[in-house]
Amino acid sequence: MGNKELLRKLPKMDELLKEAIVIDKLKDTLRPIVLESLREALDSFRIDILNGKIEDFERSNIMERFSSIIEVKNSPKLKKVINATGVIIHTNLGRSLLCGEAVRNVITAAENYNNLEYNLETGARGSRYAHVEELIKKITGAEAAVVVNNNAAAVMLTLSTLCSGKEAIVSRGQLVEIGGSFRVPDVMRFSGAKLVEVGTTNRTHLYDYENNITEETGVLLKVHTSNFKIMGFTEEVSLEELVELGNKKKVPVVEDIGSGVLVDFSKYGFTYEPTVQDSLKKGVDVVTFSGDKMLGGPQAGIIAGKKEYIDKIKKNQLTRALRIDKMTLAALEGTLKYYIDETEAVKKLPTLYMILSPKEEHKKRAQRLKTRLQRLGLDFNIRLEADYSMVGGGSMPTEKIETFVLKIKSSSASAEQLEKKLRSYVTPVIVRIYAGEIILDLRTIFDKDFDTIAEAFKNVM
Ligand SMILES: *Cc1c(COP(=O)(O)O)cnc(C)c1O
Repeated sequence: MGNKELLRKLPKMDELLKEAIVIDKLKDTLRPIVLESLREALDSFRIDILNGKIEDFERSNIMERFSSIIEVKNSPKLKKVINATGVIIHTNLGRSLLCGEAVRNVITAAENYNNLEYNLETGARGSRYAHVEELIKKITGAEAAVVVNNNAAAVMLTLSTLCSGKEAIVSRGQLVEIGGSFRVPDVMRFSGAKLVEVGTTNRTHLYDYENNITEETGVLLKVHTSNFKIMGFTEEVSLEELVELGNKKKVPVVEDIGSGVLVDFSKYGFTYEPTVQDSLKKGVDVVTFSGDKMLGGPQAGIIAGKKEYIDKIKKNQLTRALRIDKMTLAALEGTLKYYIDETEAVKKLPTLYMILSPKEEHKKRAQRLKTRLQRLGLDFNIRLEADYSMVGGGSMPTEKIETFVLKIKSSSASAEQLEKKLRSYVTPVIVRIYAGEIILDLRTIFDKDFDTIAEAFKNVM
C-alpha cells in the first residue's frame, strides 16, 4: 500500500473512541489522558508511515500502541522499584521502608481528620509535636524533643536557635559532605552561625576547642562523619571531654549524630556505632538525627536533649517553616513505638531486620530465586555466591554484611544491556554490575517480588 493510502486508512479519533479497549480505559482513566494517548498512538503511526516503516496495519495495531502508551502515562512517576543492590538504606531508592504499623498509621492520618494540633482532653489547640515527643523521651532518655522535616533541617534549626550571629566551634575533621547535598559548612552558614574550624583533618585536641572559646562562642558542635572514616594517625575529642569543657565554659554542646541509631549494634556482632541514648547519657545538650536512616522510619529530623534548649528551638520561627507533616508524624509514631521493646524493633522494622537477618536465610532464598529463574529456560547462566551487602545512607561505611547473591551472565547480552533492560521494566529491577555480571543481592529483595523479577527477566531476554 502506498503512503497516501496508508495515511487515509488511519482512523479518526471519533472512531477510536468507540473501540472497546478505549471505552474500557475511560472507566478508570482521566479522559484527557486517554485522548492524549490516542493522539500519540495515531501520531506515531503517521510518522512511521511517512518514514516508510509500515507496509500495512490493522486497527488492533494502533490499539496495542495506545495500550502501551497509556500504561506509561497512567502509572505514577514515583513508583515501586525492586532494590536488588544489597544497599539497605539506599538514598536514591527512598532510604528506609516503613513497617506495617507505620504504613497503616499513615493511611488513617491521610484519609481522616485527626488531632494533629488538637488536644482531645482540653478541647483546645494542641501541639503537633506532642504525639511523638513522649515516645522519643521514653526511648532516648531526653528531657524534651521536637521533630522537623529532616536532619539537615534539624541541624540548621538548632544552630539558628542557639548560635545565630555567634560562633560554632567544630573540628576540621568533621566538616564533611554527606550525600552530596548536606555540607556541614554550608548548613552552618545558612543557619547564621559563624564557623570556627579548629584542629586538623586527622587530629583535633581538647585544647583546640578550649583555646577558641570566647564571648562569641554559641555552641561546641560535634558532627558524626557518617560516610567516611579516617584511619591511622588520628585523634578526636570524645563527647565526654567536650561535654565537660562545655559545662566548664557554659557553652552548650550540640551533636549531629546523623544516622539515629537507637540500638547498640555491637550486641549483634557489628562494630559499635554511637547511639542517641549514649550521647544523651554522656550529657550532650542537643542531639540531632535522621528518621529514615538506621532508625528505620520516615524522612524526619529529630532534635532531642535538654528542655531549656528544645523549648527555645520550638519557639524559633524557622520551626514553622521546617515543620513535619501529619503523614510523617503518623509513620514516625508507628516506627518509634517498636523501640520500647528492642527485640520487637529488630524484628519488625525492615531496615533493622535487613541489617541483622542471618545470611543462611538469604542463602535459602537465593536458591529459591535461582530455581525460579532457571525454570524460565532463558539463555543465561546463574551462580549462587557469597558476597557482601552494605548499610548505605552514609551509615556504617566500613561495615560489610555477609550475604548471598545471584550472579547472572548471558551469552547474548552484555551485563550493561541486561541492567538497562531490567531497569526499564514496568517495575524496575535495580541491580549491581560487577566483573561483567549482574548481581542480585537477596538481602534487599522480598519473597513477594520473586514473581516480578522473573517477569522482568522474561521481558529482557
Ligand atoms: C545523613 C546525615 C545528615 C543529613 O540528614 P537528612 O535526614 O538526610 O537531612 C546530616 N548529618 C549527618 C551526620 C548525616 O549522616
